[in-house]
Amino acid sequence: MKTAQIFIVVLMFFIVLTLAVSAADAAPVKTTHKIKLGDAQVNVNIYENAGASVTFFAPHHNEQIGLNLAKDYVNRNGGRLIEIESTDERGRPQRYVKFTFGGKNYSIDPNRIYTDNGRSCSVAPEINETVKNFSDKVLKLILDADGKNLRPNERFIVAVHNNTDVSAKAEKAQSADLTAVSFIKAQSTKNITHGAFEAQADGVFLSNTETDEDNFIFLSTPAHIGYFAEKGFNVVVQKPAVKLQSKQCTIDDGSLSVFAAQTAIPYICLEADGVSGYARQSRMFEAIYALVQAEQKQIESSNVAARK
Ligand SMILES: [Zn+2]
Repeated sequence: MKTAQIFIVVLMFFIVLTLAVSAADAAPVKTTHKIKLGDAQVNVNIYENAGASVTFFAPHHNEQIGLNLAKDYVNRNGGRLIEIESTDERGRPQRYVKFTFGGKNYSIDPNRIYTDNGRSCSVAPEINETVKNFSDKVLKLILDADGKNLRPNERFIVAVHNNTDVSAKAEKAQSADLTAVSFIKAQSTKNITHGAFEAQADGVFLSNTETDEDNFIFLSTPAHIGYFAEKGFNVVVQKPAVKLQSKQCTIDDGSLSVFAAQTAIPYICLEADGVSGYARQSRMFEAIYALVQAEQKQIESSNVAARK
């Protein structure tokens, strides 16, 4: 081989090597935290990728549409996804986290554990301490190391949920279903009495372009209502913190949204139909990344202005 040929072969080798290394860099890194809950160790997984400062949280492992979309978007656009892994005896993803403590079986909803009042509503007193320790550790993964503030460069946290298809349910069950309409004060639409979740919401924007009331964005403050309404989403705005200070379990149910309001952490929840919500929830993720980018630009320009 001539020197020039050897040079080209060596050069090609380094190009291929560089491409392989940078492709590996782009893949999200998964780390698993084993967090103690009673006698169990619960896997809480973090999928992390460079490219965006945003944290998604998926507490319900059976809500696979949102979970898979979140993994997909973190893979493509960057950010972090925190996932609580929970499966039944046959390995199928489930909503509740089951564990034993003192020889007894328990089960918790991983989105009802973040406030004292919420735990008093749904968690047996003898497991309160172990559940609180678990929830504190989860908060330290979602938020900063103290579990009390947003991580640097983040402006909100994003929860990801799917709900069961309301139209597929019996009419009686529909009134207790989580939909955008269920946050409106008791009234009748489609002859269904709604208002089951009215206690938590300040108001609701129903978009004429949204055909499924199972799809909506839930906000802890009205700050971004115009942004999402303009994009044609149903938007539910949570009550302010002062109105969520309550012993009533319908108001302070221990969900992350109530915790977020009480600790002044902006919170956005992407709710979509667990059967047909894929395309709609995908649009929600795109809206989140556009918002993250816009806010990032704002931060950068205010930093530049401050330096002048
Ligand atoms: Zn959920």
